[in-house]
Amino acid sequence: MGGGSHSTRFKKKYRVWFGDRSSPKNSALTEFPHSTSNRTDMTLNTKTEQYQLDEQWMAQAIQLASRAETEGEVPIGAVAVYEGEVVGRGWNRSISTHDPAAHAEIMALREAGQTIKNYRLCDVTLYVTLEPCAMCAGAMLHARIARLVVGASDPKTGAAGSVLNVLEGKHTFHQVVVEKGLLAKACSAQLRQFFRDRRAASKSKLK
Ligand SMILES: [Zn+2]
Repeated sequence: MGGGSHSTRFKKKYRVWFGDRSSPKNSALTEFPHSTSNRTDMTLNTKTEQYQLDEQWMAQAIQLASRAETEGEVPIGAVAVYEGEVVGRGWNRSISTHDPAAHAEIMALREAGQTIKNYRLCDVTLYVTLEPCAMCAGAMLHARIARLVVGASDPKTGAAGSVLNVLEGKHTFHQVVVEKGLLAKACSAQLRQFFRDRRAASKSKLK
């Protein structure tokens, strides 16, 4: 793999679409851009194409979250994409595997490492239905992923800007491009429904 220079090129490309994060004005997390004003037609087309691809990968992450739910886990899913192909898939498996670290993101990163045969996942984009916790965000830094696309935000434990900002800032040894809010409604509705059902089930058990 190309390593640093590859990754730098990749990030430069995304700066065109998602704003130059090196400027102080845009140093905060980049919300997923829906506005397409002030772009050339060519950039517009490329951006729309990328957005459609992003939606497609996030839809797969949502499907994996459903799989977690059918296995009795909290519905969170993650997909790792490298050069336009899925290289890692993950869904929450902590309960079934008795493993506190078996979060969807960790599972997807592990599989991606096996697929690419490298523990450095330069140029990989990770799509996850819920904002990652500090552990997963830390693993993303160690993996040197290029980009993280998040569905729903997590105001309680989110480490991509909501509670902590592990992935960006001067303190980090690697910068990850973060975009939040892709298919956020679908992602958060899935989680809300899960917890609603769980509460209803525990209430009916008490009766
Ligand atoms: Zn996590």
